[in-house]
Amino acid sequence: MSPEPKSHSSANLSRETVAVSAGRPAREPDAPVNPPIVLSSTFHGTGTPAPGDRVYGRFSNPTWDPFEEALSELEGAALPALVYSSGLAAVAAALSLVPVGGTLVMPRHSYQGSLLLAAGEAATGRFTVRTVDIADTNEVVAALNGSDGAGAAGAPASMLWIESPTNPMLEVAEIDVLARAARDVGAVVVADNTFSTPLVTRPLELGADVVLHSVTKYLAGHSDVVLGALATSDGELRDRLHSYRSLHGSVGGPFEVWLALRGLRTLALRVERSQATAGILAQRLLEHPAVEAVRYPGLPGDPGHARAAKQMDGFGSIICIEVAGGAAAAEAVAENVRLWLPATSLGGVESLIERRRRQPAEPVSVPENLLRLSVGIEHAEDLWSDLSQALAR
Ligand code: PLP
Repeated sequence: MSPEPKSHSSANLSRETVAVSAGRPAREPDAPVNPPIVLSSTFHGTGTPAPGDRVYGRFSNPTWDPFEEALSELEGAALPALVYSSGLAAVAAALSLVPVGGTLVMPRHSYQGSLLLAAGEAATGRFTVRTVDIADTNEVVAALNGSDGAGAAGAPASMLWIESPTNPMLEVAEIDVLARAARDVGAVVVADNTFSTPLVTRPLELGADVVLHSVTKYLAGHSDVVLGALATSDGELRDRLHSYRSLHGSVGGPFEVWLALRGLRTLALRVERSQATAGILAQRLLEHPAVEAVRYPGLPGDPGHARAAKQMDGFGSIICIEVAGGAAAAEAVAENVRLWLPATSLGGVESLIERRRRQPAEPVSVPENLLRLSVGIEHAEDLWSDLSQALAR
């Protein structure tokens, strides 16, 4: 059973402060200020376990609690979040909420692992997937109501999956309008908030039922752990997601979760710096002759700009560029940078660059010459001089 919804002790604190203060041990003489790492696979107990008893390390671990509490406060969830062994494990748990025979509406540019997992479920016949342009509200609403995009009418959707901005095309979804439309047809709304973080977008406030994170990225923030998380205010959904985690064993190691909480403490500083730098770099990239296109919702000319300005606090720290000269030229840029690191992933303190189509699983609608830039916290001028020398070659 889910814990009772709690009233947030830090309800009047800013999120920047909550990231630092939530989940601390009780103030008692000689108590540590940081939660300890509890390395135990089992917990003392006799008799029939009461709801909430720890019992066994696949059901709960005291090291998870502070992280789950902090994330739920940041996302505005009334119940503790649930940490998973990876972002994709959290995706699998969320997809388990689609009923057998149901329909999932999903952005065609979702994270490739989420698309693959959903396609795999569809191939077994467990549910149907309708992919949409998540930035096209009319198309998404039609899909929620049963349109298959080719004029045929089907059943209303059972789940709407949202990524905003999408990975890697950076399309911005109209989350509040889509969540209302989903609610009208009885669909559960899951929002993957990995790219934004709760400091930038709060999907639960905009009507989503479940918010998802690859904790691996911004929340942990140092490219040293793989973890995921889900948060919801709905007790019934949380029970199902909790049970999925226990039964599939998709549990995070205590050390990794402890590292994630440590990373979370500096989330606000990291996001503030990397967003500011992303804004500077996006503007300069727009004027660079070797760059054919820049995708960044912070640019006034970006198709998602007005929506992002309304719904987000800032515009995130991911920029995508299309390099003149095609795939080979884009690869050469990733090879010729020295400070930026050519690697997949995002959201760490270090800036990463990747040509996404180097990965065979990436949707073919992602341009071959697209480079995804995850802007870290290095100095903007150092990042720019490295990137511009690589672009100039
Ligand atoms: N969601 C998004 C938006 C991602 O970018 C990723 C990973 O890149 C995931 C989910 C999956 O997370 P993980 O790699 O932690 O399993």
